Amino acid sequence: MALIVQKYGGTSVGSPERIQNVARRVAKYRQQGHQVVVVVSAMSGETNRLVALTQALSESPDPREVDVVLATGEQVTIGLTAIALQSLGIPAKSYTGWQVPIHTDSAFTKARILEIEPERMLADLAEGKVVVVAGFQGVDGEGNVTTLGRGGSDTTAVALAAALKADECQIYTDVDGVYTTDPRIVPEARRLERITFEEMLEMASLGSKVLQIRSVEFAGKYKVKLRVLSSFEEEGEGTLITVEEETNMEQPIISGIAFQRDEAKVTLLGVPDKPGVAYQILGPVADANIDVDMIVQNVGYDGTTDFSFTVAKNDLKKVMEILERVKNDLGARQVIGDKSVCKVSLVGVGMRSHPGVAAKMFRTLAEEGINIQMISTSEIKISVLIDEKYLELAVRALHKAFGLDQSEADIA
Ligand code: ASP
Ligand code: MG
Repeated sequence: MALIVQKYGGTSVGSPERIQNVARRVAKYRQQGHQVVVVVSAMSGETNRLVALTQALSESPDPREVDVVLATGEQVTIGLTAIALQSLGIPAKSYTGWQVPIHTDSAFTKARILEIEPERMLADLAEGKVVVVAGFQGVDGEGNVTTLGRGGSDTTAVALAAALKADECQIYTDVDGVYTTDPRIVPEARRLERITFEEMLEMASLGSKVLQIRSVEFAGKYKVKLRVLSSFEEEGEGTLITVEEETNMEQPIISGIAFQRDEAKVTLLGVPDKPGVAYQILGPVADANIDVDMIVQNVGYDGTTDFSFTVAKNDLKKVMEILERVKNDLGARQVIGDKSVCKVSLVGVGMRSHPGVAAKMFRTLAEEGINIQMISTSEIKISVLIDEKYLELAVRALHKAFGLDQSEADIA
């Protein structure tokens, strides 16, 4: 017997029929002798609808009241899921976040979980009940309703799994796992059987949005076995997100290729090459709360240098305004902004022990005639900034070069 936390996203509980399917799946696990805690999101589209309602009445609605409204979406689906389970003859009991209780801080609309009291849930499980918990919500020290930020049900599920010491946390969604890259760009992309937490974080932050990043961080920290699966398939192992030791020894060097279209490049030309310049440039950018991603500074030869970095496309206008001011203070020559760039990244823990990955990446891009504008690396990731129009070509070529394409044998 195992204790399993299963989380179902908005599309999986999007209609009474789909909720019935959820109940049937839970019933199947229970028949196999497992204890099940179910976490649900609001019906798909519902949280957006609720956000819009709060905005229809005020430009800046009180965050405490916004959370009171947003938390209702999940209250509907926990009740419906419990009813669906009971209709199948399975004893079930629903819990809102404050009924569990799931204690959070008071950062309304983006609260963090502080502690979960598992006793009530454990008592219900011991009585043979299925426990159904609302995702995305909790209660602060003053008894206020809080929500955890969009996509927060994933984090609820992982936190519950940690608090209950569950054997596995299964996240059911509309894809059947984590892929080597986006199958819409590379039809040969494969589902990964396993991926490490670290790799998943790199893949997620780079645009492969399957799970809320925070939930992966949480799972890594508390060593919760996390599995992503499709709620629309009967069978299927999905993708297991786990610690490195448990992944296959013979796993390929590269696990996946992530990409990010939302990048813009800013270059400051003719900056004096002296101490403090990087701070003078990036300080005001940070003060404006703008995230900087890649940074490159060239070596100066005539006492000046060029300084480039990337930001989200939406932030480009603001950054250009800031840098025009900085340019005058620094006596730099010119500021150039470029929105037609994107970032492509190879991700894999295997590159730690395999030199030559970067060289192979650069050769592959060169053979396709793709110019690299910036490079950044970490222990398990190599990223390049390239012209946006080559995104798909680059991802396809790299996917093939690193042996990630599904082989004919796999397909057959
Ligand atoms: N219902 C919330 C949202 O749409 C939380 C979640 O689905 O994870 O963001
Ligand atoms: Mg989600």
